[in-house]
Amino acid sequence: MNGPGPLPSLHRPMTDPFGRTISYLRVSVTDRCDLRCFYCMSEDMTFLPKVDLLTLEELDRLCAAFIAKGVKKLRLTGGEPLVRRNLMSLVRSLSRHLATGALSELTMTTNGTQLARFAQELADCGMRRINVSLDTLDAAKFRAITRWGELDKVLSGIEAARKAGLAVKINAVALKNLNEEEIPALMQWAHGHGMALTLIEVMPMGEIGAGRIDQYVPLSLVRARLAKQFTLTDLDESTGGPARYVRVAETGGKLGFITPMTHNFCESCNRVRITCTGTLHTCLGQEDASDLRKPLRASPSDELLAAAIDRAIGLKPKGHDFIIDRRHNRPSVSRHMSVTGG
Ligand code: SAM
Ligand code: SF4
Repeated sequence: MNGPGPLPSLHRPMTDPFGRTISYLRVSVTDRCDLRCFYCMSEDMTFLPKVDLLTLEELDRLCAAFIAKGVKKLRLTGGEPLVRRNLMSLVRSLSRHLATGALSELTMTTNGTQLARFAQELADCGMRRINVSLDTLDAAKFRAITRWGELDKVLSGIEAARKAGLAVKINAVALKNLNEEEIPALMQWAHGHGMALTLIEVMPMGEIGAGRIDQYVPLSLVRARLAKQFTLTDLDESTGGPARYVRVAETGGKLGFITPMTHNFCESCNRVRITCTGTLHTCLGQEDASDLRKPLRASPSDELLAAAIDRAIGLKPKGHDFIIDRRHNRPSVSRHMSVTGG
């Protein structure tokens, strides 16, 4: 007797050529942002024409197709996700997958400027944790980094998120001569408020009108400096993500390091990214891209879409190879971080 045939594409788990199973989807819902962090965007960014964007209904369908194929964790990002008009209708709709248990986590990375308005609704939709990007607690530096942002807005956003019961993790990019010195204070502030802090190495993504060499500070150096002042104990936990965590004895808090430049973390990569135009990127640090908008729009059923996803996953590269040095002071990847949301 014949056994059951292969699973149809619609529900087939996504396993790449290196045996890594994909269970984490990051969705950039817009490439636009209300800030212009100098390491992320140039001041005069050209954004995508609105007609190229998937509608929120299309994004919802695309997410559902990935969830059917085994995605358990979904992160909304951008650009700034909370500036996409009516985003909450997408969040509300996606929360149905939490209710059924198909999705174990729905989360978001945000710059926090709009959180005061939306935090409670996010929590009401079943969001439990969010990441807020904040590189400094100095209002003037914050304005300089973001080109015009107001620190107070972000701080009240964080406050509102915590009041709504959301666990907040702070993400900070380590920036040479800018916030390097402030990292211990930023950590003490975050930990003092019960928030973990993750430090990120600046990555050479997209033309930003400046070289990267002036921005980049290796986290190995930051860690060595912190270790002079604090007791850092490696935590063995694997979050499935690229961050390596330590416990800081003096604060009791958790500190993460994302080190794409000094330590390649691709072996355990479980994630892929889609952009607001429906392009699938299977690696943050490579130019690979597959169009899902066409198969999505070609048919109301998801067969073509699922087959296109399978083809793209079958091409997921082994890893990235970012370099910043005097000879390579140019983007390794032409797209900006705001296209895929990190
Ligand atoms: N706007 C939201 C925010 O800032 O959290 C979400 C999108 S933003 C592109 C996601 C994260 O990428 C932020 O933590 C930001 O600091 C980080 N980021 C942006 N450009 C980067 C770069 N070139 N290298 C490293 N991290 C970068
Ligand atoms: Fe906007 Fe986030 Fe990029 Fe800053 S890092 S410009 S907040 S998308």
